[in-house]
Amino acid sequence: MQCASGMSGLCKKTFSRCGVSDIFINMNVDDGIELFGVPHEELEDFFESIGERRFRARQVCKWIYGRGEFDFSRMTDLPAELRKKLSEISRITLLDAVEVARAEDGSAKFLFSDDENRFFEAVYIPDERKNKHTVCLSSQVGCKFGCKFCATGKMGFLKNLTSTEIIGQLHYVREYIRQGGNDLTNVVFMGMGEPCDNIDAVLDAISVIVSQFGFGLGHRRVLVSTVGIPEGIEAIMKSGLRPKLAISLNAPDQRKREKIMPVAKKYLIDELMKIVPEYARYSKRWVTFEYVMFRDFNDSLEDARELLRLIKNLPAKVNLIPFNPVAGVEFYPPDDRIVLRFQSYLLANSVVATIRRSKGRDVSGACGQLAGKYSLR
Ligand code: SAH
Ligand code: SF4
Repeated sequence: MQCASGMSGLCKKTFSRCGVSDIFINMNVDDGIELFGVPHEELEDFFESIGERRFRARQVCKWIYGRGEFDFSRMTDLPAELRKKLSEISRITLLDAVEVARAEDGSAKFLFSDDENRFFEAVYIPDERKNKHTVCLSSQVGCKFGCKFCATGKMGFLKNLTSTEIIGQLHYVREYIRQGGNDLTNVVFMGMGEPCDNIDAVLDAISVIVSQFGFGLGHRRVLVSTVGIPEGIEAIMKSGLRPKLAISLNAPDQRKREKIMPVAKKYLIDELMKIVPEYARYSKRWVTFEYVMFRDFNDSLEDARELLRLIKNLPAKVNLIPFNPVAGVEFYPPDDRIVLRFQSYLLANSVVATIRRSKGRDVSGACGQLAGKYSLR
């Protein structure tokens, strides 16, 4: 990994000559050291590096994530001198939504931009019945993997989001949820981009989400959805963080998968299947296979049989997602009865299978419909 310290010889993170910094690569140090969306341990290192006690990190986090106070001068339990120092050498960068589109079903899509007009989105998905309030986050602007059915894939790749930008989305949408009298309960990495292709920033963000000094959510309330990049999944297992894992399978065999997901040629289905029991053991939870259903492509009983053959001995369940229309994509969702038939076949063969009824379709906020500002207009 490239490190900003390589340029000056002095680590921009710790002000010392040591380490590798991944969070300050893209920042202008003149603007100060970014403190928002940074894992707790790194914040502690930062305080130590400026000659302060490590517990200052906890105090600052309480202000930022607990009380929503971002002005150092008002962090009254910090010594006045430290408050002044922090204002001079550090910063907290929040996101402001450029546009909020509310869907009829209560979900909402939030459009954000970086300072170079690269747009990315988060989605709020309420489930009042279960009192579940989920935020779907983007990990990249665009995506490199070009799945044939996905709006994000069609726009190409623009950039990786930083953990500051990922947590910025979450903070903004959590405030929106609170204004409605509710609180955030779940986070899914199912927005724009491929989380395993930006895994360092995603893991930093997850560590803030599950930290008791951050958002305080349990690991099982965070879900990472991936096309199945083994290096990324292994990185999660090395990190000690235990989010739930969903793998976008979308086809019952190698040949069909390659037709709709170019990445399938690189990461073969058989290899992917080997990681599933490993991750289930590690996280102590079953893995989910997402299966987007396309009319007359992967929705027949023969497809269901193939799928069963592939996954029947794995600690995994299936989430069926009827295809959500994307402009310029020549696929159609199957009729409801066909989706139910597919589900029934799996259930009858002891595979746990659910159907995801996507929310937010009227604002193009459903799975696979996110394409930055293009989809809002
Ligand atoms: N890159 C990750 C996460 C973002 S996509 C991944 O691919 O898993 C999140 C989910 O939306 C994936 O399961 C993907 O298969 C699904 N998806 C993409 N386009 C879709 C569409 N048009 N209709 C329904 N689901 C779609
Ligand atoms: Fe990228 Fe996921 Fe869309 Fe494929 S489905 S193009 S991996 S965002």
